[in-house]
Formats: sequence, structure tokens, C-alpha cells
Amino acid sequence: MGLIVQKYGGTSVGDLDRIRNVARRIAKTYDQGNDVVVILSAMSGVTDQLIGMSGRISKNPDMRELDVLLATGEQTTVALMAMTLIEMGYQAQSLLGYQAEILTDDKSCKARIMHIGASRITDLLETRKIVIVAGFQGADARGNITTLGRGGSDTSAVAVAAAIHADQCEIFTDVDGIYTADPNICDKARKLDRIAYDEMLEMASLGAKVLQIRSVEFAKKYSVPIHVRSSFHEEEGTMVVNEEANMEQVIVSGVTHNKNEARITLRKVPDRPGIASRILNPISDAGIQVDMIIQNTRSGHMTDLTFTVAKNDYRAAMEISRQTAKEIEAEEVLGDEKIAKVSVVGVGMRSHSGVASRMFATLAEENINILMISTSEIRISCVIEEKYTELAVRSLHTAFGLDAGE
Ligand code: ADP
Ligand code: ASP
Ligand code: MG
Repeated sequence: MGLIVQKYGGTSVGDLDRIRNVARRIAKTYDQGNDVVVILSAMSGVTDQLIGMSGRISKNPDMRELDVLLATGEQTTVALMAMTLIEMGYQAQSLLGYQAEILTDDKSCKARIMHIGASRITDLLETRKIVIVAGFQGADARGNITTLGRGGSDTSAVAVAAAIHADQCEIFTDVDGIYTADPNICDKARKLDRIAYDEMLEMASLGAKVLQIRSVEFAKKYSVPIHVRSSFHEEEGTMVVNEEANMEQVIVSGVTHNKNEARITLRKVPDRPGIASRILNPISDAGIQVDMIIQNTRSGHMTDLTFTVAKNDYRAAMEISRQTAKEIEAEEVLGDEKIAKVSVVGVGMRSHSGVASRMFATLAEENINILMISTSEIRISCVIEEKYTELAVRSLHTAFGLDAGE
């Protein structure tokens, strides 16, 4: 008997049959004597459709209204799930984000959870109700509906689990767990039994969308163990936990890719102190996060500065850069959306050298040109042309001995 949080992603609640399947799984957990809080995503494809619709009305839709619109996806699934459970004879109730007292900051479409006043959830649990909470959404201090960024239901689940001191947080999805690479593009990817928070943080920030990065930050901060597993069968998935001694044995534990970035280059920028902040400050002032940055020195006191941003910030970042380029008299601004970032990740890299050279050699053998490089203690990332992504992931996976059966 325990207090269990279960989160089901979009594919798992993609149609009414799947909703019924999930309801049976929830009921089974409840019948075992557990208190159950369920967090749901919108049906798969619905959030994209809603974004598409708003895009047909405006190139730059009002962000507050976009939050109101996007939150409807999750409103639909929680109501359908509660109805299904009630129809099956269980006591269940849905709660929207604000009703579950999920308080966020006021950054529309990328809000962060500040606090969860869990009393409404715990009151319902005391009456032995199954509580179904809408993921991905909350409300700011003024009561405006906010959403947490793509994949945000994972974060809702972990934050609720932390707030109510749940015994378990299970993330049910359309893969069997966390793999050494995205199993949908690398068929030799291997399922991991356990992964350290820090490794998962890197993998999530480098494009492994199986968990939203904020959910892993929360889990690490509040020591919530996460169990990522399939909603289609009962097998154990992957535990995301604190680093353990035996995790050191592998050097590289995964290969990730991210096609969701674009790069911007300001060419022939006058090479003088303060120029990088002159270019990048207006970008960050607009709330746009810059990922990688490189600066090449050219002859004659000129330099090129290149940086990457998320694809959905690309247009805004290009506009700002063009304006800055005019002001500082840079020669031109070039943009490239057809790039991808491939990375190798592993806490074991801290104590081993030679990972970078093996990565570069592997890409070279496949004739893949490296456009940018960045490293941290436990990862190395290379930006390459987007068309080589799958090839790069598969060859790195093999080169680092990660292929299944090895
Ligand atoms: P959900 O709708 O359940 O939240 P997501 O689509 O957000 O599911 O995340 C699951 C997807 O994450 C998988 O279908 C898979 O393609 C992708 N993925 C990327 N990297 C990995 C990885 N290393 N291990 C498992 N899945 C991964
Ligand atoms: N429905 C939202 C999305 O598609 C949130 C989620 O699924 O986690 O991004
Ligand atoms: Mg997701």
C-alpha cells in the first residue's frame, strides 16, 4: 500500500480504447490498496493541432491566449478519464492545473512551477477518490492559465509527486524505458535498468524528449525516484535515481540527438571588447535561450560569431540579430535551420580521456562534417548537417560499444 503518482503521455491516451486501457491499469493499482494520483497529457497530436490552428490565425499569437488554448488538450483527457473510471464503478475526480493549486510564474508557454498547494489533492485522496490532474498546465498568481513548455506533463507529475510525498512516480509512455539512444531511430539501442539524475539531465537537455528536463531537475532536487515504463505492458522500465558507484563502469551511457535547433552567424563583426554581449544580450532580453556559441577570429580585426537557439525562437532571434548587425556594422547575418546536434553522454567520462577524439574520428569516417563543438564534464556535443543525424547516432552508438548484445 502506498501513495502512487502515475503519468500517462499522449500516445497512451491517444483514443478512447487507450483511455479505457489506462483506466483499467489505474483501477488495478487502486484495487491493490494504493492511493492514486494520475497526471495526463493531451491526446497525441492534439497540442500540435492547437498550435497549428493558432498559427493560421496569427504568425505571432497572443501568448496568454495560446496558454488558454493549449490547456484545453489536457482538460479533455482528464474529464474523459474520470468519466471512464466512474463508469467502471470507481470514485474519481478530475482537477485542472489551477484546481490542483499548481502555482507557476507568469511566463506564458514556458512557465515554471513555483509551488503546489497539495491540500485539494490530499483532501480528495482522504475520501478514497482517484485524482486525475491535468498535466502541462498551472496558473500564475493572478489566476491566468499558464503552460509549462512542450513535454511539460512530466514536470507536473514529478512536482505533484514531490508535493504530496508520493512513494513512487511512474511515467508511462510509448517506449519501454530509457534507452542508450532514441529506439525509434537506432534499432540497436539498449534499454537501461537505471540511470543517474545527472546523466538523464544531460540526455534530456540534449534532445531525449522521453522526459522533460525540468521534471528531472525536480526529481533530483526533491529525491523523487522516477520509473519510466511502457503503458502497453507490465514489464519494468528504467529507474532514474541518484548516482551509484557501479554506474561509473561505463564511459558513455547514451547518444542523443536534437533536430530542434537553428544556428545564426553574424559575419565580419568588428572584433572589440564587449561585442559578444552586445550581440547576445538583446537575444536573452527577449527571453530566448542561446545554446552553443563560437567565435572565429578573422584577419583585419574582424570576427564571425555563431550561436544556436531553439527552432521556435529562430525567427525572433534572426530579427534581433539583423537589427544588432546594422547597429554594430557587421557585414551580414546568416541563418541555418537544417542542423542537428548529436551528443555522447556519460558520468564515466569524468575519469576517462579519449572520448572526444573517438567521437570526432567516428564522424569523420562517415564523412560527416562537424560545424560546432561543445563539451561539459559528462558530455560532448557536435552540431552537424541535419540530414546526417540518424547515421551519426547509429555510428556513434556502435563506436562506443553500446549496441544491444555487446
Ligand atoms: P509521451 O507522449 O509519453 O510524453 P514522448 O513522445 O514525449 O512521450 O517521449 C517518448 C519518446 O521519446 C519516445 O517515443 C522516443 O522516440 C523518444 N526518445 C528520445 N530519446 C529517447 C531515449 N534515449 N530513450 C527512450 N525514448 C527516447
Ligand atoms: N501536451 C503537451 C505537449 O504535447 C504536454 C505533454 O504532452 O507533456 O507538449
Ligand atoms: Mg512527453
